[in-house]
Amino acid sequence: MKKQYILVLSFGYAEDQALGVIPFTSKRRFASFKEAVVDLAAFFRSHYEGEPAETKKCCTATLQKDADAHYCSRCRTSLRKEEFNPDQFEDWLSRISGTTVDSYSADFVPYSSDPDWDVCDFEKACAPKANTRFVYQAEKVLCAAIGHSVHPDITLDTIFKARSGKSVSFW
Ligand SMILES: [Zn+2]
Repeated sequence: MKKQYILVLSFGYAEDQALGVIPFTSKRRFASFKEAVVDLAAFFRSHYEGEPAETKKCCTATLQKDADAHYCSRCRTSLRKEEFNPDQFEDWLSRISGTTVDSYSADFVPYSSDPDWDVCDFEKACAPKANTRFVYQAEKVLCAAIGHSVHPDITLDTIFKARSGKSVSFW
């Protein structure tokens, strides 16, 4: 049976561990804790990468003339799609721990009245029947959830196998 999840994210490790932890919840239902983590990671990644910019006519024309062009010959816009950098994504995720309500919607996920995932009250996360899970070193677990592990032998599967209880941590 699919369930709603509350994922309490804790960022960093050892002396770099953030003291604040943030619960996130989704109205959507998932078959497993792992599926919820993968969905939250995809949600953050989509906000990290942002909307793809619309291609202007002049840029399309440049690419038609030269498919390998790096810049538009007319407006000088870069025509190379920036490659996803998992290290920068990890840094971006780690910085969520230092946000306020204002800076979260300014720098991370713009305010939406019906977001896929949203910050949740602690009272809700601690309610007796809440389906709450802890994700330690969330920046690394969320990177692993989109297929970018720092160590090739530590994947999301191995993390979940090693920590099959109520919490999931990288080590
Ligand atoms: Zn152009």
